[in-house]
Amino acid sequence: MSRLLIIGAGGVASVAIHKCCQNSEVFDEIMIASRTKSKCDKIADELKDKTKTKITTARIDAMDVTSVVVLIKDYKPDALLNLALPYEDLALMDACLEAGVDYIDTANYEPEDTDEPKWRAQYEKRCKDLGFSAYFDYSYQWAYEDKFKNAGLTALLGTGFDPGVTSVFAAYAKKHYFDTIDTIDILDCNGGDNGLPFATNFNPEVNLREVSAPGSYMENGKWVEIPAMSIKREYNFDGVGMKDMYLLHHEEIEALGRNMPEVKRIRFFMTFGQSYLDHMRCLEDVGMLKTTPVEFEGHEIVPIKFLKTLLPDPASLGPLTKGKTNIGCIFTGKKDGKERHIYIYNMCDHEECYKEVGSQAVAYTTGVPAMIGAMMVVTGKWKKPGVFTTDEFDPDPYMDALNKWGLPWKVDENPVLVP
Ligand code: NDP
Repeated sequence: MSRLLIIGAGGVASVAIHKCCQNSEVFDEIMIASRTKSKCDKIADELKDKTKTKITTARIDAMDVTSVVVLIKDYKPDALLNLALPYEDLALMDACLEAGVDYIDTANYEPEDTDEPKWRAQYEKRCKDLGFSAYFDYSYQWAYEDKFKNAGLTALLGTGFDPGVTSVFAAYAKKHYFDTIDTIDILDCNGGDNGLPFATNFNPEVNLREVSAPGSYMENGKWVEIPAMSIKREYNFDGVGMKDMYLLHHEEIEALGRNMPEVKRIRFFMTFGQSYLDHMRCLEDVGMLKTTPVEFEGHEIVPIKFLKTLLPDPASLGPLTKGKTNIGCIFTGKKDGKERHIYIYNMCDHEECYKEVGSQAVAYTTGVPAMIGAMMVVTGKWKKPGVFTTDEFDPDPYMDALNKWGLPWKVDENPVLVP
């Protein structure tokens, strides 16, 4: 029995909340707190007669640490699950430390204003020193390690699907299938179609920042950076079929590169259709993906934020999306002196997800692992002082929970490898 404080009431939060409410034995009380309280109330109303979990709601600005501390002290949760945006990560970690509760999230920190001089100087140094130029990286959250350790609190970072489940797959492969892993290819395929000319499957601002950035992968412990979308492969995905996929920079490469230094190469690929890429390139060319303010008729506007207001809300895509996602990891390495290749993956059907929780599969594949990560922490299965990613714990209870809570996985022991 536990009490969970969930920050955010968007697409991912909605799924995680539905899943917590299915899992009332663990989560007998939850509070949904977000910037727009009506969104919290809407989710609570939908669920109130369908669950034993007691749901309360509140308005909160996650950037206001003092107010979050007051809310935590008043509600007394066992943990805080951050399903707002990556911009809020550090403020919420500070609040958890001050109020003395465990912290869980699904995406690593990046600042909202990438022109803020102090952050910019640190960022430019990191680009030069480490050789990758994504706005997000783990260093800001890993820097909290001593603070969480000294406070005896757990911070579990990145428990979505990717990052999250993909890193659990890596820990599982290492534990059960390999003596040494040589390469990891993470493949994220969305074979769904929503019939709209252009829409993103999760928060448009965060999504477009991520996919328009240069790609990078890790080879022999070093980053190799490439122009955005310049490495393309084709892959035949179970349940979806043949798709084009492109190499992107992604969070779990950084964490796996640190925690499994023996792995010689780690890459991440995501599928995109030509129309999506054409729209994105055009928006980028005209400056609509810029994250820094421009002046417009006497007002300052941030182009990517303005674009977000025009694009469909990802939470509205549920009834429109058909088809499947297929996300997983291909591992190569050795077991008992012999070469071995395995592929661990999950397939998820957009329409089935909508039937079950009223959301499309991208929100579902993130929200379910968010609930599972929170369950691992509040039940004590994954609880130790410090700041951790999902590859740093025993993968077995998490893998069992994926099967039980809607994301069953398969192991293919003879996969086609990615060239
Ligand atoms: P949405 O934009 O749909 O929802 C974000 C929610 O956070 C909204 O309810 C928003 O409130 C709220 N929020 C934003 N800022 C604040 C603030 N300062 N204080 C309080 N609440 C705030 O995003 P998604 O649900 O699509 O994504 C949620 C998170 O999941 C993101 O961090 C995203 O990066 C991550 N993600 C992770 C994935 C993974 O596999 N690991 C995959 C997909 C997403 P309001 O409604 O008022 O704007």
